[in-house]
Amino acid sequence: MRSEGIQIGRIYRIPIFLHFSWFFIFALITYSFVSEFDALHLDLPAWRLLGLGLVTSALFFGSLVFHEMAHSVVAKHYKIPVVSITLFVFGGVARISRDPSRAIEEFNIAVAGPISSFLLAGGFWMVYRAAEPNAILRALTGSLAWINFSLAVFNLVPGFPLDGGRIFRAIVWSFTKDYSRSTRIAARSGQAIAYGMIGLGAILAVNGYMARGDMIQGMWLAFIGWFLLTVARQSRAQADARGALEGLRVADIMTADLPTVGREISLEDYAREILRTGRRAHLVVAHEQLVGLMTGEALHSVPQADWDVTSVQAVMLPKEKLHWAAPEEAALSLLDRMRMVGMQQMPVIAGGNVVGIVTRDSILRVLQTRSELGSFAGR
Ligand SMILES: [Zn+2]
Repeated sequence: MRSEGIQIGRIYRIPIFLHFSWFFIFALITYSFVSEFDALHLDLPAWRLLGLGLVTSALFFGSLVFHEMAHSVVAKHYKIPVVSITLFVFGGVARISRDPSRAIEEFNIAVAGPISSFLLAGGFWMVYRAAEPNAILRALTGSLAWINFSLAVFNLVPGFPLDGGRIFRAIVWSFTKDYSRSTRIAARSGQAIAYGMIGLGAILAVNGYMARGDMIQGMWLAFIGWFLLTVARQSRAQADARGALEGLRVADIMTADLPTVGREISLEDYAREILRTGRRAHLVVAHEQLVGLMTGEALHSVPQADWDVTSVQAVMLPKEKLHWAAPEEAALSLLDRMRMVGMQQMPVIAGGNVVGIVTRDSILRVLQTRSELGSFAGR
């Protein structure tokens, strides 16, 4: 959970996280609301202006949650579990546990977000119209209508991983019937758009500097472009990896040699075992019976000072809580399952015996071999 930030609550049993960058952005956005309201000459003391800025920011982030909830509700409608919603730099991400299995599902999940933002913009705009004599309420709802409208439009840009990129991928997918290829095409268009934004942002910033004016807008645009570029690259790498795993079974990607440790050894000894073997997951045995799984993550859940007085037994994943894989299960479906339960490794069982283990490393090895073979064969 470290990478996702701080959990602030749950809606519909979906945990909502604030990414660490959020705090910085919240301050920045509040500041820009306050200066916007200040320019309207509302005749407010500074502390009320600040209060109004804070309330507007909070409602803006509420709008983001609403947007992500719209994606989530449609995903749940298709029986796709939603793992979490994280609010970060300039929006949110609803993480779903697996990719949609049909283009129409993907299309509907993606399009729900911008639609919900347009609806919010419309709602705030109606309040804005109705609030005629109340300048403060008008300032608040006017800003929120505009920002939700912009959010919807921005998200419709056809570059992956924005909603528009997903909509684009769904359309390509419905024509090509090839999921991995559609993802690569959508990610490439995302990269192109990101380069465009960086370029345009740089030009605007330089222009602003030459005119001794505002550089901020250009820098924002370039920053968002750079961020999009990073995510589009990741999506492409992910699509390539999935493509390489297509058609493989668990038996093809598991490691058959299984390191074991006793449950009574101390964590200090276990740390030494990790160093010695270079393996980060071990089956825990007692009287030749499997009793659990011990991992590097479990080791680090205990402060190092307590390693000599804590046993493996105390922190391992007990057998009852383990998830298993079968050798004939499709490699891609196992990958989705591991992502869903948040496990880095999964033991493989056949006929009641542990026959292997799938770890992140063993998957990486397969991917590496496959890409080397791929370039060797000239594709
Ligand atoms: Zn969205």
